[in-house]
Amino acid sequence: MTTTRFAPSPTGDLHLGGALVAVASHTLARASGGALRLRIEDLDPPRIVAGSADRIARDLDWLGVGVDGAIVRQSERRAHYEAAVAALERAGRVYPCDCSRADIARVASAPHEGEETVYPGICRDLNPSRQMKRAPALRLRTQGFITFDDLACGSQRHAVDALGDFVLKRGDGAFAYQLAAAVDDAEMNIDVVVRGRDLLSSTPRQLHLMHLLRYNKTPHYAHVPLVVDALGQRLSKRARGASVRALREAGVSADEVMAWLRGVLGMTQPEDAIAWPTSEAPVPAAWARLARSELT
Ligand code: GLU
Repeated sequence: MTTTRFAPSPTGDLHLGGALVAVASHTLARASGGALRLRIEDLDPPRIVAGSADRIARDLDWLGVGVDGAIVRQSERRAHYEAAVAALERAGRVYPCDCSRADIARVASAPHEGEETVYPGICRDLNPSRQMKRAPALRLRTQGFITFDDLACGSQRHAVDALGDFVLKRGDGAFAYQLAAAVDDAEMNIDVVVRGRDLLSSTPRQLHLMHLLRYNKTPHYAHVPLVVDALGQRLSKRARGASVRALREAGVSADEVMAWLRGVLGMTQPEDAIAWPTSEAPVPAAWARLARSELT
């Protein structure tokens, strides 16, 4: 019985890239009689779009992607993240960092490709009791290598310290995506994490955290290619993309959307096994035209 999860940030409507991840996660769970959990990653209040979590849940429902159990909201799990940071502090793996806000502003959200900054370790060896220039962020002292077999991308080996000492908690008190996702995937007993390939470099960080936190089970991962627009650019809730809702409003049926998503996953029948795609999936031209008002 495989437990999977879909973990959208409530920053906009469900787009086709998110729907692909949700359908793959649903298929894996259903094929084994397992469960698909829905987790709302609402840790960064300024980025939240009111009502979008409900809209995402309704769009999943319209597609026939049923979720199991109660919806998990990260904003309600802060005590778990606090406990994890405390455990890492006891293990001597955390240091305060008072580098400027611009360096750390993006860390409460998942860092999609092209948005990453590798922290150069400025505060790593400074006295943690020094006078801070501002409320410090807490960073993880990273070390070593992480290897894993990605179901879609194959064998992976990453030097975690080359990815930089990433933030666990921002100076403003917000817990970072990497910490929250690692704690939640472990504590929710997730067997397989499916997500976009732009998050591949987050996985060694999250596995590193799970090992340090001594969770005795870690998930398997499948990083799927991105769904792109006609120009080959990632559809994004941040940059407005072809949303499932826009397609529905333009008269596209749930069956048509599901048939296209299954096609990307190499499935002809709903009960087929997934053939993990290796290349980007461009939105059909007709849909791109329908959604043009959103894409401009
Ligand atoms: N909340 C992240 C996003 O919507 C996804 C994180 C994940 O699947 O680990 O981009």
